[in-house]
Amino acid sequence: MGEVTMDKIVSLCKRRGFIFQSSEIYGGLNGSYDYGPMGVQLKNNIRDFWWKEMTQMHDDIVGLDSSILMAAKVWEASGHVGNFSDPMVDCKECKSRFRSDQINLEAACPVCGNKGTFTEPKNFNLMFETHIGANSDDSSVIYLRPETAQGIYVNFKNVVASSRVKIPFGIAQIGKSFRNEITTKNFIFRSCEFEQMEMQFFCKPGDDEKWFPYWREQRMAFYEKMGIRADHLRWHQHGPKELAFYAKDAYDIEFLFPMGWQELEGVHSRTDYDLTQHTKFSGKQQDYLDAVTQERYIPYVVETSAGLTRNVLMALSDAYDEEVLEGGEIRTVLHFHPKLAPVTVAVLPLVKKDGISEIAKELEETLREHYTTFYDQGGAIGRRYRRMDEVGTPYCVTIDYDTKEDNSVTLRFRDSMDQVRIPMSELVTTIDKATKEYKRK
Ligand code: ATP
Repeated sequence: MGEVTMDKIVSLCKRRGFIFQSSEIYGGLNGSYDYGPMGVQLKNNIRDFWWKEMTQMHDDIVGLDSSILMAAKVWEASGHVGNFSDPMVDCKECKSRFRSDQINLEAACPVCGNKGTFTEPKNFNLMFETHIGANSDDSSVIYLRPETAQGIYVNFKNVVASSRVKIPFGIAQIGKSFRNEITTKNFIFRSCEFEQMEMQFFCKPGDDEKWFPYWREQRMAFYEKMGIRADHLRWHQHGPKELAFYAKDAYDIEFLFPMGWQELEGVHSRTDYDLTQHTKFSGKQQDYLDAVTQERYIPYVVETSAGLTRNVLMALSDAYDEEVLEGGEIRTVLHFHPKLAPVTVAVLPLVKKDGISEIAKELEETLREHYTTFYDQGGAIGRRYRRMDEVGTPYCVTIDYDTKEDNSVTLRFRDSMDQVRIPMSELVTTIDKATKEYKRK
């Protein structure tokens, strides 16, 4: 119905406890965000869904959790110390900072409107630098990791030696990454601290021709399983100018965010570049011995690299809707897939007295075993439903006087607002079936 704008999403996120600005009482810190009670649950649900899909559903993928702080040499080998920079200009008048590849340098400053006030473009390294140990000199410099992938590469040999993996296989990892981004607008889309969900798939050189299209297909199917609308997703293949110098081919999955089509995830064919670089810089051979053919080679890599926090923004943007109800009332609702919704079932007693709230509380405690639940006994039922719609709760159960008589409850579905009267004992099977068959209209 109503147009989805970033302002509406930011406002809902604050109002309903999804996402807050970091250090807000001190005026906020640019590019950092805090996930509130609803936001952390949504983020964890997306994280768990990815982890299950990549590790449990693919028996050729194992997991890893490497540290954020790594030897500085890792980032020299990967090229981040030398190349990981964006060209940047400042407006001398209003001091605003921009990526020079994202604005027209001949035009007026988009913030203050002055012309000819930009500095010369300078390269700006995106890695956050800090020091380890007691001395703060050049030898103690280390970096907060700007991607999780390098933690996977430097553990390639450890995983091969300690697990029963055989090429082809993948290593998956989810974790925080940090980039000193120059332009951090668009809410959590581009932040300085964010989370990534990455998988590096190691294969025999040449077999990447088979695995690259396979992983592109798998990754797009993942978003459809998440319930994201297919017409809000598309592919973008990197042109020769965009392609990293070592990459054989690269595609981005783009999503139609409120500000337009933007990258959500990259699927990259990276050849043997990273493992070769680590061989050179560490002096340790990062190769693989095929036990059957006795062939020794440095594997090729197909990478799938998604932003978890960017996925949260995608889920919110895709789910957001404003519906005009009969009588003109506007209902704000998040149509999350039930698997992603922060609260799966809300239990709402129609009245507090005569033992009704006790029955409702007891039911809520039983349902906790199966779902994330929420108990709310205060206020008009219509208002309680609206609150649940705004956080995307797919199922609400109400308890009333009839429940006392016959153990029946009313189950209300978020999207259709349909209500059915069913025995309490059938709640779990009914909810499970509805979740399994869920299709967004
Ligand atoms: P861009 O060109 O937009 O800066 P990128 O191409 O450098 O991004 P990658 O290095 O390929 O991005 O990172 C993989 C994924 O990590 C991206 O698709 C995105 O989902 C996520 N990501 C990267 N940078 C950020 C950020 N600053 N904030 C949130 N998510 C990010």
